Amino acid sequence: MAYDHENIFAKILRNEAPAARVFEDELSLAFMDVMPQVQGHTLVIPKAPAENIHEIDPEILGHTIQTTQTVAAAVKSAFDAPGIMIAQLNGASAGQTVFHCHVHLIPRRKGDIENPRGGVRGIIPENKDY
Ligand code: 5GP
Repeated sequence: MAYDHENIFAKILRNEAPAARVFEDELSLAFMDVMPQVQGHTLVIPKAPAENIHEIDPEILGHTIQTTQTVAAAVKSAFDAPGIMIAQLNGASAGQTVFHCHVHLIPRRKGDIENPRGGVRGIIPENKDY
C-alpha cells in the first residue's frame, strides 16, 4: 500500500491538524494521543513519510527510537509513571489504524485495566512489582 499523504499524522506534521506537541526536532515529533488509553499516552513519529517499520529508513528509525527514549523519560517524570509500555503496530491486522509509522508511550501502573477499545493493551496484575 502506498503511503497516504492525507493520513492524520501527515496533516499534523504539516500543521493542517492540531496536536498537543511535546517534543520536536528536525527528524521527529512527539505529541499527546487524542484518545489516550491512560493519562500521558504519547506518540512519537518520524517526520519522513513511512507507513510502518518495514518501510522506514533504518537511520530514521534509529533517530525515532532515540526520541522515544528521550520522551519516555519526560513522560515518566511528568506523569509520575512507575512503568511505561512502548508499542509499535504494523498493519491493520496488528491493530494499526493510522498509517504513518508511530510509537506509543503508555504510562503503566499497578491496577491498570484493559482498555475496552482493544489493541495495544495489557493488564498489570495487582501483585506484580514494577
Ligand atoms: P495505532 O492503532 O495506529 O497504533 O495508533 C493510532 C493512534 O493514533 C491511536 O492511539 C489514536 O488514538 C491516535 N490518533 C488517531 N487520530 C489522532 C489525532 O487526530 N490526533 C492525535 N493526537 N492522535 C490520534
